[in-house]
Amino acid sequence: SWGRVCNELLKSVGKSNFTTWIAPLRMTGVEDGIAAFEAPTKFMCDWVSRNFADAILREMRHAGVAVERVDFRVSQLRPIPAREVVRPASSAAPSRPQGPDARSDDELPGAPLDARFTFDSFVVGKPNELAHAAARRVAEGGPVTFNPLFLYGGVGLGKTHLMHAIANELHKRRPEMRVLYLSAEQFMYRFVQALRERQIMDFKGLFRSVDVLMVDDVQFIAGKDSTQEEFFHTFNALVDQGKQIVISADRAPGEIKDLEDRIKSRLQCGLVVDLHPTDYELRLGILQTKTEAYRGQYPGLKIADGVLEFLAHRITTNVRVLEGALTRLFAFASLVGREITLDLAQECLTDILRASERKVTIEEIQRKVAEHYNVRLSDMIGPKRLRTIARPRQVAMYLSKQLTTRSLPEIGRRFGGRDHTTIMHGIRKVEELMTADSQLTEDVEMLRRLLES
Ligand code: ADP
Ligand code: MG
Repeated sequence: SWGRVCNELLKSVGKSNFTTWIAPLRMTGVEDGIAAFEAPTKFMCDWVSRNFADAILREMRHAGVAVERVDFRVSQLRPIPAREVVRPASSAAPSRPQGPDARSDDELPGAPLDARFTFDSFVVGKPNELAHAAARRVAEGGPVTFNPLFLYGGVGLGKTHLMHAIANELHKRRPEMRVLYLSAEQFMYRFVQALRERQIMDFKGLFRSVDVLMVDDVQFIAGKDSTQEEFFHTFNALVDQGKQIVISADRAPGEIKDLEDRIKSRLQCGLVVDLHPTDYELRLGILQTKTEAYRGQYPGLKIADGVLEFLAHRITTNVRVLEGALTRLFAFASLVGREITLDLAQECLTDILRASERKVTIEEIQRKVAEHYNVRLSDMIGPKRLRTIARPRQVAMYLSKQLTTRSLPEIGRRFGGRDHTTIMHGIRKVEELMTADSQLTEDVEMLRRLLES
């Protein structure tokens, strides 16, 4: 029954999401594998279908309902509420009518917060310590010291985690504060919807009535002119009122293409901090923390020494991939009932490990090989035929073929415009020599390890 499904949903999406988005739904029936629901507004229908449809499907199936799809419609029974929270910037809250029509302040149309994204679960290291400290400061909810806080960095480095952590912390410490977190995409979506439904004043009122506004992935609004315009006005209105703004993006403000200059300069006014790519220590720290967190879930969990170190060393792309690898490893190990060893990790993570292999360039190879054999880098690509130079050059050709995806003609170009048959010959020569010359084999192996690390 829907009631039972609701109990499960409450657990999986969390209480506040549940109350805001799921509880107002009315299930009207299941027919031909389609579960139909009614929600009070168009916005809710869209929101729930974008953010919670999968969870609803999953829990219904869990409860044994044969369902392929969920469908949301605006409820025919209740009229669409004319307005959401409208509170002009300057009007004091206590003067608002407290009748049954007064809506409570916690109904901000933000994106769902992930309760797991807290400061406690955020591992701090050199690459992110500044961003973390700044986020902590904002989360104290004290007087605004920098505005906005602009966090930027590559995919999966923890921007969204930090923003949720700020919101989660503020909810705890300063429950009276109106904190609104949403992605730039959602900002645009709400804006366009308000235009369409002629509720732009409501939209403005709502966004100007918050104490903290957090907009994630702001690069999304680049090139979207009217959304940028609205964002700019919202931004200014809040800054003027001394309200805190937190913004994230995948690059520095000045580097976002098709973003208006006045917005760029506004975004640079406060504190701009970047999250650097993770280093080995941070990755290991994250893996250890996550492993501890998993212990409850997998009681018999056994991990051989060196596995986490191996992963931290090999998966350098981003934290999301690192987490994904760990999750898969634990699931796999518990499924087959084996200890997590290096072999098991290599077996079950082949694709991830391959995808995150470090990309070695031909220039690096030439440099390392030249260093090793103590010859000049310029001789690597030069014409000299002396054995003492030709041999290292051939080793570099061999390694270029082995460690990069470059074709023979491309490699030839990088070796002073040599013909691809010359490269082919060089590679064959090294292969041939290696069968008899153990010193050469050792050299090549050593160079390979050096280049791959
Ligand atoms: P971004 O928004 O920068 O793309 P996210 O904040 O979504 O990245 O982070 C991706 C995943 O990595 C999330 O599950 C997040 O919890 C995790 N993560 C990133 N950095 C850290 C960290 N320093 N400590 C713990 N988990 C992290
Ligand atoms: Mg993000």
